[in-house]
Amino acid sequence: MRWKGREESTNVEDQRRSSGPKMAAGGGGLVLLIAVIALFLGMDPLDVLRIAQQQQPIGNVQPEEQGSETPFSKEEEEMAQFVRVILKDTEDVWDKVFAQAGERYQKPTLVLFSGSTKSACGYADKAVGPFYCPGDSKVYIDLSFFNELAAKYRAAGEFPRAYVIAHEVGHHIQNLLGTSDEVSNLQQRVGKKEGNQLSVRLELQADYYAGVWAHHLQKMKGVLEEQDIKQAIVAAQAIGDDRLQKQAQGYVVPDSFTHGTAEQRARWFYKGFKSGDVDGGNTFEIKYDAL
Ligand SMILES: [Zn+2]
Repeated sequence: MRWKGREESTNVEDQRRSSGPKMAAGGGGLVLLIAVIALFLGMDPLDVLRIAQQQQPIGNVQPEEQGSETPFSKEEEEMAQFVRVILKDTEDVWDKVFAQAGERYQKPTLVLFSGSTKSACGYADKAVGPFYCPGDSKVYIDLSFFNELAAKYRAAGEFPRAYVIAHEVGHHIQNLLGTSDEVSNLQQRVGKKEGNQLSVRLELQADYYAGVWAHHLQKMKGVLEEQDIKQAIVAAQAIGDDRLQKQAQGYVVPDSFTHGTAEQRARWFYKGFKSGDVDGGNTFEIKYDAL
């Protein structure tokens, strides 16, 4: 897909530098260690501590400053830029689709984090994968997942990354339409099996919305290339429940194993792409076995 040099969204919150470990605790530990060593060497530990504390500001501040000033690698910078361009693409498409229905699209915020983050849905580790939190209307992504898409799930190329973002924005659409609320209310009243089925319906609909987005993106901007949709289908298959369960090596995938099979995910995405019609994502009306 063509994305370089295109307009970027301003609704990206970059937390990649703020979620790293703090150096201060390590500095204190170091001083204590020096004092203990000094004791063994027959020196007065209080003297050593006094000297060490005088040195501490330098020892403490420096690593932190270095940490925050380390520039992002070219690859990291590009990936963040890519995310901002794709988020802008979702804003433009859903703005238009909502306007056509006489509604106003409320844009979500996308949070880039590194390692772990705190959302209105609770603490999240990057192992959870990209996710959407209806409580704060934010999409959360650790960019390392994009490398995993290629390496672990063999979904190479740029468009699979766009599909992942579009899928999470699909959950935002469900939040705006009230679907997410309905589903979580229902899930509290049914058993585990029915709850999982509701989750599959919700996920397949998000895949469908990702397809609807790709349809309108191509119509509006013509930025997709032939292999893009094929690559997205490979990605949708790769993160299907059946595939994941087969290769499960103790790794947790977005929203756990309640997303639909490889075949279902690819089919619903493609269905959305072909039609571009939001109302066609009727995954709650179809018999579960016929999904
Ligand atoms: Zn999802």
